[in-house]
Amino acid sequence: LSNKQGLLADESATIAMGKKLADIVKTQLKQGIVVYLYGDLGAGKTTLTRGFVQGMGHIGHVKSPTYTLVEPYELHDWLVYHFDLYRLSDPEELEYMGIRDYFADNCCCFIEWPEKGLGMIKAPDLRIDLAYSDEQRTINIQAKTALGELVINALS
Ligand code: ADP
Ligand code: MG
Repeated sequence: LSNKQGLLADESATIAMGKKLADIVKTQLKQGIVVYLYGDLGAGKTTLTRGFVQGMGHIGHVKSPTYTLVEPYELHDWLVYHFDLYRLSDPEELEYMGIRDYFADNCCCFIEWPEKGLGMIKAPDLRIDLAYSDEQRTINIQAKTALGELVINALS
């Protein structure tokens, strides 16, 4: 399985990368994906997800689900779930939220701090690592499944 690295010069580049992923999902995959997002606070996980959610057709605000753990977006043809598990103290809590319903085929799940929910969340198609590089950010996108591999190929 492949990976792809790049430099994101500013916030708008991070948004654009999220939108590009959305375009690939809509026009090429035509099914949902699970993306795990790794990186320090402020690395751009929420910003990337914002670009994705907007690219999938959401108009308006994309807020960070820091306290709610998940923010659902019911779009025309798609369901997008943005998770931020930073404040999750026990992965069992996800059971009470009905976590399994979130991983249907037409759902896209972008998950910040997935390590907090391991054992309870579906395995990823893509792993994305964001990191500080002075004022910019680096991005590394790794395929974890054949579906993820299609995304990497479409990006190249
Ligand atoms: P996280 O969810 O990883 O904690 P956020 O997306 O909430 O991070 O915040 C990232 C911060 O960095 C925002 O202030 C955003 O404007 C900025 N940012 C996002 N992408 C870039 C980039 N490519 N280069 C520089 N700054 C960025
Ligand atoms: Mg965040």
